[in-house]
Amino acid sequence: MITTTSLSILAAVVALAALVSLGVLALRLRRSSDALSSNITIWKNRLESDLQQAREERNRLLDALSDAFLLIDSESIIRFANAAAHQLFNCRDLINRPAREIFLDPRLSEALLHCLETGDPVQSRVLLAQQSSPRGDLETRGINTWMIDAARIPNSEGSLPTTRVIIRDMTAEHQTEQIRKDFVANASHELRTPMAIINGYLENLLDDNMLEDPEMTRRFLSIMRKHADRISRIVEDMLVISRLESGEANSLKVEPFRFRSCINDILERLESVIRNQNASVTITMSDEALTLHGDRFYWTQVLFNLVENALKQNPHPGLKVEIGGENAADCHRIWITDNGIGIPSADLPHIFRRFYRVEKHHSQREIKGTGLGLSIVKRAIEAHGGTITVTSVPGRETKFLITLPKDAQITETHPAATP
Ligand code: ADP
Repeated sequence: MITTTSLSILAAVVALAALVSLGVLALRLRRSSDALSSNITIWKNRLESDLQQAREERNRLLDALSDAFLLIDSESIIRFANAAAHQLFNCRDLINRPAREIFLDPRLSEALLHCLETGDPVQSRVLLAQQSSPRGDLETRGINTWMIDAARIPNSEGSLPTTRVIIRDMTAEHQTEQIRKDFVANASHELRTPMAIINGYLENLLDDNMLEDPEMTRRFLSIMRKHADRISRIVEDMLVISRLESGEANSLKVEPFRFRSCINDILERLESVIRNQNASVTITMSDEALTLHGDRFYWTQVLFNLVENALKQNPHPGLKVEIGGENAADCHRIWITDNGIGIPSADLPHIFRRFYRVEKHHSQREIKGTGLGLSIVKRAIEAHGGTITVTSVPGRETKFLITLPKDAQITETHPAATP
């Protein structure tokens, strides 16, 4: 028989057991909640460090851009600027500044502000004729060109728009384009004159019945031939320049050759001119076996153009021309000097430009040159990794000095280097 006491003891045992299991459950619960919160902290830290890493990676990538890059928020405040932007704006503080404040020239900020206000993407080329850059300081290089490219970045639904801005220095591209345009304009101009002359004589011969007069016909034809020769000389020179500029320098036929053999070639070609002008050409070589590595064809042309120029510009008797060469420790030096009329100092900086001729010289009127000779000389030398300089004391000495480093790299010439 179960007594009341026994029942009470049983109830107490059951209650105790329930209490114990409740305590165990509570303990377990606390343990797992502790584990959960420490896990959350770990995940949170990991997430933050991942985010930081991603941000650093993004900044590194944007810093690697050569163009200036900015991120601007919906209030027109700069939130990010890459390394190129800091450099462009002279490391001024850019972050947290209003975008309109950073450009000192309003022509540059105009396009960007339009994009910020309307949200329309802009790509604007700004030509600054005045000597200033986006940072507003004085530049020595004259006209410079900038491209401002701004567009809103598509954001997630509901968030405020961010605008990305790229600022690119397009000065070199603009110059190259300008040089090409000038080249075409100059070439057309140079070709138009002889062509108009030929047409004029043809009209005379055909329309005015000059063909009946054989003497006149012969005279006209010989004038026409002179101008036709000029056209073909200009075209040939232009082809040489364009070959040198088009990267064909990479396919220069590079081989060792004796410089003396080029001298012999050009002296042979110019022999009658030298004799007729009663000029003297002396050769000064410290090493008769001076050997160059390069394209012998272009080196012969370089030498020919320079010596022919000296003779052409000084048709009076008694001109002295010197062709020199020396083998220095780290370079070869080649020079061509003459004691003729010389080049005025005001013209010296322009002398290697295409179609440039010294106004005062008689050669221009007598259709002797194309104005491309020195341009070819400079490009050919640069394609071989060398340089050329000129000095002139009119009536005393005009000297073209070529320096060719012994470890010179044969490269492509860039039209921007010389207009
Ligand atoms: P061109 O075909 O007219 O000779 P170049 O490019 O060879 O063209 O030369 C440009 C100009 O430089 C010449 O027209 C001439 O006025 C000047 N020049 C070049 N070499 C000499 C020189 N040795 N003496 C005087 N003037 C020179």
